[in-house]
Parts: sequence; C-alpha cells; structure tokens
Amino acid sequence: MTEMILTDFLDRAVRVYGEKKAIIDQNDQAYTYTEINDRVNQLSHGLSALGIQKGDRVAYLAPNTLEMFEGFYGMFQVGAIMVSLNTRLKSDDYLYILNHSESKALFVDHELYDLIAPILPKLETVQSVVVHGAERSSGSYFAYDSWLQSQESAPYSRADLSENDLCSILYTSGTTGKPKGVMLTHRSNYLHALSTMHHLQVTDQDTLLHVLPMFHVNGWGSPFYYTANGATQVMQKKTDPSEILERMERYDVSVMHMAPTVLGSLIDQYKAEKRNITQDVRVVIAGAAPPQAFVKTLEEEIGFTFIQVYGMTESSPLSLISYLSSEDDDLVGDRYYEAKAKQGFEMIGSKVRVINDEGKSVPTDGKTVGELVVKGHGVMKGYWKNDEETARTIRDGWLYTGDMATVDDRHRVQVVDRKKDIIISGGENISSIEVESVFYDHSSVKEAAIVAKPDEKWGETPHAILVLREGHQATEQEMIDYARSKLAHFKCPRYVTFMDELPKTASGKIQKVYLRDLV
Ligand code: ATP
Ligand code: MG
Repeated sequence: MTEMILTDFLDRAVRVYGEKKAIIDQNDQAYTYTEINDRVNQLSHGLSALGIQKGDRVAYLAPNTLEMFEGFYGMFQVGAIMVSLNTRLKSDDYLYILNHSESKALFVDHELYDLIAPILPKLETVQSVVVHGAERSSGSYFAYDSWLQSQESAPYSRADLSENDLCSILYTSGTTGKPKGVMLTHRSNYLHALSTMHHLQVTDQDTLLHVLPMFHVNGWGSPFYYTANGATQVMQKKTDPSEILERMERYDVSVMHMAPTVLGSLIDQYKAEKRNITQDVRVVIAGAAPPQAFVKTLEEEIGFTFIQVYGMTESSPLSLISYLSSEDDDLVGDRYYEAKAKQGFEMIGSKVRVINDEGKSVPTDGKTVGELVVKGHGVMKGYWKNDEETARTIRDGWLYTGDMATVDDRHRVQVVDRKKDIIISGGENISSIEVESVFYDHSSVKEAAIVAKPDEKWGETPHAILVLREGHQATEQEMIDYARSKLAHFKCPRYVTFMDELPKTASGKIQKVYLRDLV
C-alpha cells in the first residue's frame, strides 16, 4: 500500500491541473500549479543546502502569502517538520517556541522580522534565518527571493517518509495558557483533508480566499484539500473587511474560512458599503461559535451559505461540522439559525462522545452537559516533549477536549463552553457563550465576553466586558437591565465593563485569561 504523504496532493494538482491558475498571491500575481511546483522544488533544494534533513524542525512566521504556501510542500519533500508560528505573539513567546521545538531554521516575513531580531542571540538551535521580502543576504541571513532563484528547479529527490512521520508541530493558540506543541502526522492530516474536502464539497471550480491564517490549525488544512482538488487559492494577508470584500468580488471567490470576529466586521462593512453581492459564497466559520444573528444576516440578507466547524489543534483540527440535512425538518425559522450557529455532526473519521465525570455517556436529551471527547485519525500523536500532559489529554485513545457539550437524539452536538470558562455561581453552571450570545443580539454591542468574577456569596458571578459599536452609547445599568429582560436572573451579569477592544489571539479568539485578571 502506498503511504499517505501530504506531497501527494500537490503531485495530483500538477498532473491533473498543471496549467490551471493555482495561486493568486498577496500582490495579485498569478501562478499555475506547474509554476508553484517548480518553486517548491527550488525551496526543497534550498532547504537541503541549508543542511535541513528529514525530521528537522523548521519554523515559519508569516501571514497568508505565496511564500508560506510553498513552504508547506517544500518542507514535506525534505521530510522536515513544520513549526508554524502564530503571527500575534510576543518576542519572548517566539523565543520559547523556537527553543522548545529545537527548530533548525526560521523563515520569516520581513514585516515580522522586528519581532525576531531581539531574540536572535538567544536562539539555541536556529542556524539560518530566511526572510521573505528582504533585499539582501548576509551570513546566515538570507533574502528569500534571490536565495530561492539561485536554487535549481529540477525535481527534488524526496526523503523516504512513512505516513506516521510528523508533518508538523503546531502550538495551540494559548487561549488558556502557555501554548503546547501538538504533534501531527502526515497520515492524520491526509485523512483529515479527505474528510474535509468531502464535507465542504471542494471542487476544481472553487476559488478560495485564504482569510483564516494558514499558520493556525483551522487554516492549516486548507492548502491540502484545496490543492488536491485543483482549486484556485487567493492569498489574503490582512483581515481588513473592505479589502476582503473587494478581492472576493474581483476574483469571483466561492469559499472563505474565517473566525467569527472577522465575520462580524465583514457583515458590518457589507452593510456600511451598501453592497449587493450576487455570487455564491460558502463562509466557513472556525474556532468558536458565532452569534446566531450573524448566521441569519449572512444567509438571509447577504445570501451566502454558512457552515460552522468545530475542532482544536489536538484533533488536527476538525471534528464537527454544522451542515443540516433533510432529516432536520424540525429546524425552521430561528431554530434553524440557532442550530447552524451552535450545533454540529461528527465528521467522517471522527467519533465523538459527551461523557460525565465517571466516563459514562450523558443522556441524549440535548440538555445534560458533559465533556466532549474525540477519537479518530485526526487525533494528535501527543504534545511535543510533554508526556505528562499527553497522558492527561489522551486516555484510551480518546482526546479529552476540555470543552463541555450536550448531545441530542440525532447526535447533534452543541459545545456549551470551555470547562475553564464555565461560571459556577451558587452551584449553578452558567455558559459564558449563552450569555454572550444575548449581548450580541443587542444592536449597540459589537463584542462581548463574559468571565467569572470571584464573589463572596456566590463563589463566582458573571461579569460582562463589552465593546460598543461605533457611535453607540450605553450605561452599565442599561446593559444589566437588558440582560435581565432576556435571561434567568442567576445568569445575568451584575457587573459590566466597557472596553475599546478585547484581547484576541491571531485567529481572532477572545483571550479570557487576560480579562479574568482584569476583573
Ligand atoms: P490553548 O489550548 O492554548 O488554550 P485554544 O484551545 O484556543 O488554546 P485551539 O486549538 O486553537 O487553541 O482552539 C481549540 C478550541 O477552540 C476548542 O477546544 C474550543 O474551545 C474552541 N472552538 C473551536 N471551534 C469551536 C466552535 N465551532 N464552537 C465553539 N468553540 C470552538
Ligand atoms: Mg485548547
């Protein structure tokens, strides 16, 4: 049997779609799959010349660019393991990850180089730094373009890989603490890609706008499943909503993946520009449940198709998808949008259970909350250099997600909250997500985060941190009264803080750890 190695996907694209437009880069330049393959070969030769061998870790710090895209395949040919770095970290975080992963080389976008410069003397294993967009090379510092052009483009003779070899070590978002290095194999990403391309119905007619960062696990799989199907992929460097809408129309984009926060600003921009886009666009939302109102606006007013996926770095990433079938005729009106925003089915290749503290499945009543556990090809090999945490997270082959969920009799799973974000007030569990979604329905609220505030009487009490829409005003008391008109009394925040913006991870997730410190 042939092994499942990720380079297969580009090989197929070159054979079947060689002269088709493969990539439109961040500067609007187009490349065919054959041209991309030549560049990938040059990159692999260049990596070899830098002394990179099978099993070596090579780090990437880049937004969605042509260089980042070809990095995936260039590395896999050599058998190197990609450590893709989140672009929104601090210099010290990069120092930690680069040393922890023992990366041998670092590829970095010139716009991000200033984050790396101060830590260069403290890097223990990095021997070469290759800078995208830099003008001149010197010593162990290479300017990518001229360096790449000086490499031969003849086919590269590939490393002998087995499907259980690692393709990547991805560090988690660090939403809840220090990022952990998740080890993923070629096989897990390969099977995950096959499953995802089926569920998202990817075809060679698709044009993807890469909005979700490819360095992050949510966006990480897309260079595999869109490439395998010969889709056209447009690199989107920034999440600027007006630029996204403009490029979406210009390139006749059919599918985009993004975080709910980006979707929110896109909807606002769409309305502000009074646009009327008639093309068919699937918008895939990853990373957190979006407010129901977003789904309704997107589908009813704008006319796009909404798809939500659930997953985590440790599951490679996706396990659940919110597509509804004809079986779902109980879902009409707002119930339909609510289900789309919040519920999902297990994806092919993933098995999902919701269990109580004794490890027994909770009743399928759509109400009882338990921990979501996942089994399947996507589950990571473990955390890099952290056996203890691996043993805590994977037990009997089940990945303990740390997310709390319910499941109904149709096996629709609803993520209620992270274990760490649930607020326990007077013995009652309050889902921060549920309270947040009520605030998102308020016309003045742009963003909402509910966190636990320590309370003498109740143990914890919900505290709302809100960002208002531009030009809107509200008082704390008005917001408390609003919540009381919509929610059971014990779920209502007794404290409200207004902020100009909320701390977020690069993929747009609100970092409640910092907000908890604040309250
Ligand atoms: P860290 O583990 O470092 O604290 P993180 O958990 O945010 O960071 P990721 O692996 O990027 O790192 O995110 C996975 C988490 O994102 C899931 O465990 C879940 O809490 C949340 N999530 C992902 N998709 C959804 C979704 N569709 N609905 C609700 N929550 C989601
Ligand atoms: Mg996590």
